[in-house]
Amino acid sequence: MYDLIIIGMGISGISASIYAKRAGMNVLLLEGSAPGGTINKINKIENYPGISSISGPDLAYNLFDEVNKLGIEYKLERITDVILEEIKKVKTPNNVYEAKYLLIASGRHPKMLGLKNEEKFLGRGISTCALCDGALYKNSDVAVIGGGSSALSEALYLANIVNKVYLIHRRDEFRGEDTLIQDVKQKGNIELILNNEVTGLKIENDVLTGITLKDQKELNVKGIFIYVGFIPNTDFLINSGVNLEDGYILVDEHHETNIKGVYASGDVTKKEIYQIINAASEGAEAVVYMTNKTN
Ligand code: NAP
Repeated sequence: MYDLIIIGMGISGISASIYAKRAGMNVLLLEGSAPGGTINKINKIENYPGISSISGPDLAYNLFDEVNKLGIEYKLERITDVILEEIKKVKTPNNVYEAKYLLIASGRHPKMLGLKNEEKFLGRGISTCALCDGALYKNSDVAVIGGGSSALSEALYLANIVNKVYLIHRRDEFRGEDTLIQDVKQKGNIELILNNEVTGLKIENDVLTGITLKDQKELNVKGIFIYVGFIPNTDFLINSGVNLEDGYILVDEHHETNIKGVYASGDVTKKEIYQIINAASEGAEAVVYMTNKTN
């Protein structure tokens, strides 16, 4: 029986685990994928205080290193279900773990466009990670879809590797950060295609060769990078009784859900701002609030 189980080893869950360990809690971290979460897919992080510039994978490595140095227990197991009574039970395919408190920091995953054959060509021309796959398209033309900060920053990253980037957005204005918008506009090999949408994939001999747009135009691109937002990782909460909105977890000002002793932090929660810095602080705060209640 643990004091606290944390679901998710992104920056929010790991920050929480550091605070919990230092508060003397018996804590278990559970992660269904790779430690580090979403930051593993970010090229450059330049807005985290004290670190002027770091790659996402390097920050993820540093976080994981800290988990190991502090001797925080972790297990890489996929969560299938939770039972949230006085004792919180977390089920994985082969185990059931129990704790007094639960913190859900399971993050979110990229949304797709819903095009025919999109899933089939994921990893074979379609990507949601420029950092992971950009090098495959060296000197080729690629398309980036989306109008938020992710699409803008990843288009800039790709523009340094590939021949040309078509940045395709369904509106005439971007919603991403102003500095990124200015940088994109100044980059010589990024062509903006606004008020347009991708309607289909061009496939020849089982190879992705391009895309068709709403205005019937065709673009010959070897790679398509999709950055159109996210879906929260809350499938395992379907029967839990935790209040969700659009799949995101609703929490109060102490990061507690509607179920006593169950907290949530980071990108899996419903909130205004999805930044690395507040994901980290929310994890830490949740632990401070739960330990204050205990004392
Ligand atoms: P986002 O802000 O939600 O933007 C998603 C974009 O995709 C929007 O422009 C949206 O268009 C478009 N979109 C959604 N569904 C679409 C569809 N079916 N077809 C075509 N376009 C579609 O997501 P994000 O850019 O990944 O950013 C997520 C959060 O991370 C934000 O809070 C952002 O500030 C933060 N972030 C920050 C940085 C940084 O450098 N500080 C970098 C990356 C992300 P509409 O505009 O028309 O809705």
